[in-house]
Amino acid sequence: MLDETHYSEFGANGSPPEDDDSGSGFYVHEIDESFEVDKPRIERAVREILIAIGENPDREGLIETPARVARMYAELFRGLNQQPAKHLKKFFTEKYDSMVIVRDIDFNSMCEHHLLPFTGKVHIGYIPDGRVVGLSKLARVVETVARRPQLQERMTETIASLLKDELGARGAGVVVEATHSCMTIRGVKKPDAYCVTSAMKGTFRTDARTRAEFLNLALKK
Ligand SMILES: [Zn+2]
Repeated sequence: MLDETHYSEFGANGSPPEDDDSGSGFYVHEIDESFEVDKPRIERAVREILIAIGENPDREGLIETPARVARMYAELFRGLNQQPAKHLKKFFTEKYDSMVIVRDIDFNSMCEHHLLPFTGKVHIGYIPDGRVVGLSKLARVVETVARRPQLQERMTETIASLLKDELGARGAGVVVEATHSCMTIRGVKKPDAYCVTSAMKGTFRTDARTRAEFLNLALKK
């Protein structure tokens, strides 16, 4: 799985992504940075859920819960209407053309199938073509992409495409290692199951040695 792009079957409109190097068409939605999460609507919905499971939403312990959940969702899904590419617009021009690797970027995201958290680490590698970004910008890209109803496969693919297309990197590779609450606390209950996904772009895809170098450094324990 690690030596090729790991695609999900879930494209933006249900259509499979093109199996080529063309980049960020994997999941594109209109981003409206002025959008504000409708918290009263979430509150009403959470109150409904409480009633539906047989709870009394007016008892003392629950009375503030809908408002709390609304604030939490606004935070956890904040990235949906933020443009991750904007963090790559400020770059240094640098004649560095070897591999840059940033390991162990922590992230928290929400699986779009269950709205339960999945958490883990992102490892990023790229070979610049004159443009290098600060490490904190890569972390911001990860955060923006993670704070949406998400699939690990899509998240991996999106980050790699952003580096290739927006930064103009010669090649980019992304590996994401995560545990999914929807697997650990329910269903098959596999608490130790790790899900690993990878996406390779440009020279990371076409050159086996580049890819091997990245995976070796990124996954070294
Ligand atoms: Zn899930």
